[in-house]
Amino acid sequence: MGMTTAQIADLASINPATGEVIGTVRLQSRDDYEQAVARAEAVGASWRRLPAPKRGEVVRLIANAMRDRIEPLGELVTRETGKIRAEGIGEIQECIDIGDFAVGLSRQLYGITTHSERPDHRLYEQWHPLGTIGVITAFNFPAAVWAWNAMLAAVCGNAVLWKPSLLAPLTAVAMTGVVHDVLREQDVFKPSNGADPCDLFPLVIGTDETIGQAMTADRRLPLVSATGSCAMGRTVGGTVAGRLGRTLLELGGNNAVIVMSDADLDLALRAILFGAVGTAGQRCTSTRRVLCHRDVIDTFAARLVEAYRSVRIGDPLDQATLMGPLINELAVQNMCNALGEIANEGLDVLCGGLEGIARHADEPGFFVEPTLVRVPAGADPRIAWQETFAPILYLYEFADLDEAIERHNAVDQGLSSAIFTSSMHAAERFLSADGSDCGIANVNLGTSGAEIGGAFGGEKDTGGGRESGSDAWRAYMRRQTCTINWGSDLPLAQGIQFES
Ligand code: NAD
Repeated sequence: MGMTTAQIADLASINPATGEVIGTVRLQSRDDYEQAVARAEAVGASWRRLPAPKRGEVVRLIANAMRDRIEPLGELVTRETGKIRAEGIGEIQECIDIGDFAVGLSRQLYGITTHSERPDHRLYEQWHPLGTIGVITAFNFPAAVWAWNAMLAAVCGNAVLWKPSLLAPLTAVAMTGVVHDVLREQDVFKPSNGADPCDLFPLVIGTDETIGQAMTADRRLPLVSATGSCAMGRTVGGTVAGRLGRTLLELGGNNAVIVMSDADLDLALRAILFGAVGTAGQRCTSTRRVLCHRDVIDTFAARLVEAYRSVRIGDPLDQATLMGPLINELAVQNMCNALGEIANEGLDVLCGGLEGIARHADEPGFFVEPTLVRVPAGADPRIAWQETFAPILYLYEFADLDEAIERHNAVDQGLSSAIFTSSMHAAERFLSADGSDCGIANVNLGTSGAEIGGAFGGEKDTGGGRESGSDAWRAYMRRQTCTINWGSDLPLAQGIQFES
């Protein structure tokens, strides 16, 4: 069922630092989607027959092309999302890193061999491509999340259909353009069936109703990898599960740092500032709660306020800026709503707050001030259970580590976590089975800024998915257990006799 031409609209991408339109793209229709999947299926049939190390060679060319264009791509990320230039460039660096990782991985897609219980039999596992992978990405990492999925999925032998956030379509166009340029020029992969190699990486920019729903319902996509809010994950996860497909869900976080009384407070301060204020609090791993020992909370709160007041807010392309704008007016409104609830709950706003937002109201762009909220001892405000995608940090106090861990784990999400301490006992307790319940747990560094070498993702409402390094590649493949009888008898497993 296709859309009529009249339904096809243009989508403007807005620079959140200025409110200006930086470009427009055409929203794609259901027909465009159907064609993209059909073409991906056709070229995928050829791609999966190319030896994995050769697929790695193509990915190496893609990573090198991103290397050559790191500055303009990074600056586009900054223009489209408002994250500061260092983070925009850092995001493309992450794409390059995962590309390099995938190249090495292309020679390591190994399965185990084990011993058969039957004589003259061999038993082993191997991994095959899944087919065409659907990737849905969030606005806040408009390039890296796609690259995490696409580079691994590609060396694993899959085609990758990408539906980006409608808040960051130009980055998706630019990244796909780099990939398509490489695929047009390379001579490693020439599909035997005359298909276009570019069709391996289709980009489909469209609404959740047209493209999003088509993807979740489409049985030709054996895996849908979706990054975004917990609400999105519930919808996408539910629909894909309904057709017994697989999902890889990377959803919201509500990440906390525990600061013990023996912590290096200088270190904790720097890590928490970057974690809570960096990317204007718009990372899934942003620090949203600090649980501070009561012996040091007053000193630490005062130092945090001082640090918050020194944060330079402004043009994200200016090297001196530490915090850019929020993504759009709705994000500012969501922050105002949370601050309204904070006021209703009688919490103490130490800096920022509604006044901080008012101070930027007359400027173009969607600027706010980072906000620090002190929660009275014993209080448990419901607003702090939510992931408000903005720079609001809640400061709690605790008396002992048991209390801190209980409070730490009480929320619904389980993405990233950290403890600052010089006690081996406290650090190990935090990392133990009775400690942090998150997918990521750090000691003496913050919650934000993961490396690509480890598996990335979280538990509970964060969705349970793992992407990026380690053995996350397995999500993009299907496992096959193979038994080979090289003898002349037919022994059955478990010693079953079945003779006529
Ligand atoms: P969002 O949930 O609004 O949108 C994410 C993506 O899902 C977008 O592409 C959107 O168009 C799509 N989408 C939404 N509903 C859909 C549906 N019903 N069917 C198909 N697609 C649908 O999130 P956002 O505002 O873009 O990003 C912020 C959120 O993403 C935060 O919650 C953040 O924590 C989370 N996030 C998580 C990770 C992670 O790795 N865990 C990484 C980045 C962002």
